[in-house]
Amino acid sequence: MFDLTTPIEKLPRVGPRNLPRLKRLGIRTVRDLLWHFPARYEDYSKIVPIAEIKEAGTTVGIQGTIVDIRNTRLWKKRMSIVNAIIRDESGLIRAVWFNQPYLERSLPEGAMVSLAGKVGIDKRGIYLSNPQYEKIYGEDLTHTGRLVPIYPETQGITSKYLRFLIKPILSQLKNIPDSLPAELVRKYNLPNIKKAMNDIHFPEQIEQTELAKQRFAMEELILFQLRVLRDHRQLQTLKAPQIKFDEKLIAGFVKSLPFELTKDQRVSAYEILQDLEKSYPMNRLLNGDVGSGKTIVALIAAYQAVSAGHQVVFMAPTEILARQHYQTIKIITGGKITTGLLTGSEAKQWPTDEITEEKITKKMMVDKISKGEIGIVVGTHAVIQKNVNFKNLGLVIIDEQHRFGVEQRMKLVKNRDLVPHLLSMTATPIPRTLALTIYGDLDVSLLKEKPKGRQVIKTTVVPHKKREEAHDFIEKQIKAGRQVFVVCPRIEISNSDSVSRQKLLWSEVKAVTDEYQKLSEKIFPHRRVAMLHGKMPSSEKSKMMEDFKNKHFDILVSTSVIEVGVDVPNASMMMIESAERFGLAQLHQFRGRVGRSAHQSYCFLFTSSDSNAPSKRLRALEQTDDGFKLAEADLAIRGPGEFGGVKQSGVPDFAMATLKDIKLIKKARLEARLLLKKDPTLKSYPQLLVRLAEMQRLLHFE
Ligand code: ADP
Ligand code: MG
Repeated sequence: MFDLTTPIEKLPRVGPRNLPRLKRLGIRTVRDLLWHFPARYEDYSKIVPIAEIKEAGTTVGIQGTIVDIRNTRLWKKRMSIVNAIIRDESGLIRAVWFNQPYLERSLPEGAMVSLAGKVGIDKRGIYLSNPQYEKIYGEDLTHTGRLVPIYPETQGITSKYLRFLIKPILSQLKNIPDSLPAELVRKYNLPNIKKAMNDIHFPEQIEQTELAKQRFAMEELILFQLRVLRDHRQLQTLKAPQIKFDEKLIAGFVKSLPFELTKDQRVSAYEILQDLEKSYPMNRLLNGDVGSGKTIVALIAAYQAVSAGHQVVFMAPTEILARQHYQTIKIITGGKITTGLLTGSEAKQWPTDEITEEKITKKMMVDKISKGEIGIVVGTHAVIQKNVNFKNLGLVIIDEQHRFGVEQRMKLVKNRDLVPHLLSMTATPIPRTLALTIYGDLDVSLLKEKPKGRQVIKTTVVPHKKREEAHDFIEKQIKAGRQVFVVCPRIEISNSDSVSRQKLLWSEVKAVTDEYQKLSEKIFPHRRVAMLHGKMPSSEKSKMMEDFKNKHFDILVSTSVIEVGVDVPNASMMMIESAERFGLAQLHQFRGRVGRSAHQSYCFLFTSSDSNAPSKRLRALEQTDDGFKLAEADLAIRGPGEFGGVKQSGVPDFAMATLKDIKLIKKARLEARLLLKKDPTLKSYPQLLVRLAEMQRLLHFE
């Protein structure tokens, strides 16, 4: 016998060929299999008498007996065709299958069959083209004659195979442990888990699937909320270094800045500084659109922490960004704070002392950090997490990454009694609904407004025939002293299954090099054009960015390397090649590279083919440059999951799909709170504890 935890390799119908494929779908246990829900349903429930089938192009279901079946090989075309004749009480019809010679044996003459599929027509009349088929034994049909589930598939795993796996499990599994408390099942009038599971895979009526989905969504959302609430509670039992908010100091620092803070920046900084004073670790997300000025907010907190005698680490996802942050801090703090840079390719410190230069060895940097000699350390995630042991780390700032648990924080410090505060920043505007789910609305600071004087970035989808006009426009911008980014996607590689990282990198290089040649030789030969791609050593990449920032070039052709964070205020023009190949979030990020000063900025979206009308996505970009609005639009266009890093938040995919349903989220939040209030340890809900422990385990593997 088996239960939910049984590994799928133990199932008789899973062989060595399909096992790795199932695993690629994330299916490892019976539980995973059952929770692999259909993406949609095909309605084959209506069985029609054969004599009534008249029209080609329609989809029909029939039931009858095979009166003739034979396979023919077409050697020249290297294919085979199975032709069959099926009879019911009303008449006869032909069915045709391509390249399935085995059908001759599995559907022998005399077999009772159920078929469903499209009606085709040729010179011999109408026929069923490649229909779904199954032999009829009892009443119970799986693939035809009913609402048939269609699953998210991968190469080699068909919906038919998944149905073949799931159906027997559903009938053999006596009970399915339910983590949704019985009182909630009753309260919301939801089906019990066994029924819901049957209904979601093999519904009799389509309406049943809705209620079943709601049930599972409720369960996932409650679990998720419980985790958020418990994490938060647990955080409060930990000790953090208390960093006193020195209002005078901060007022002085803010005054020294070259610009006035926006109201949102002030409020966010204030929220963070208040958190730092507490005796337990902060866990705050600074959520702001691209260009909303998150860096400076983080720096205010860093300045406070260092002034109070603590160290701060500022982690960036790429070397380019780490270097950029280091430069910003150098300028903004005017040398008042010892700042270090530590990446895979270099280490630097500023200000220097008499003996050392700005550039030092990485080993020296690691040593200085562990002695507490560096106040703010800027570096890449990878390097910092691997090498560094801080003497008295007070605050961890993370740019562009969502999760960074207490455990990871503790790896950075020597003193295990105190947990550093955490500020994570994301330029992926998380819609309010999502933030509500992910963080339970607890610790999010929002930067909605952009700094003063910014103009709306004018965005246009440029059709092929208007390219030249666009180039003329760009020329004018350069003449006026502005700079231009050009982003192109890598060249498409076919057979994406077996593509190595190396191959991807090379296709990127080719794309960038081609574009670079075109622009520098044909279109803008008199302009200074540079390029940037993933095959360049990081130090070269960083140098190129710096040169561009210092206006040594007019045009920078790049891959998505420049996607996140890069700040070149003088650049006013973003031109994206084959824009349809990028996701909405990514396009918005690219666009965010311009519009970072008072100059009017523009974004041109070139599409590679003119035949298709621009997608909803590109149109949405034309309509607004507000990331929050876009995120909501994206949510509406295709449902959640895609918009940037929300995946990393740990919200289960399935629950993500229901996030549009704000009412359900609110209910789940409320119920999670009530459950914890009633039973803080959740001991009376053993199944909930099992699932929560599982989630914890999953997170540790991330
Ligand atoms: P992001 O939120 O995308 O990380 P940055 O922190 O890089 O944005 O800031 C974008 C640009 O705006 C930077 O050049 C920064 O110096 C500038 N900036 C930040 N805050 C303000 C402000 N209040 N007024 C004017 N410019 C600002
Ligand atoms: Mg940034």
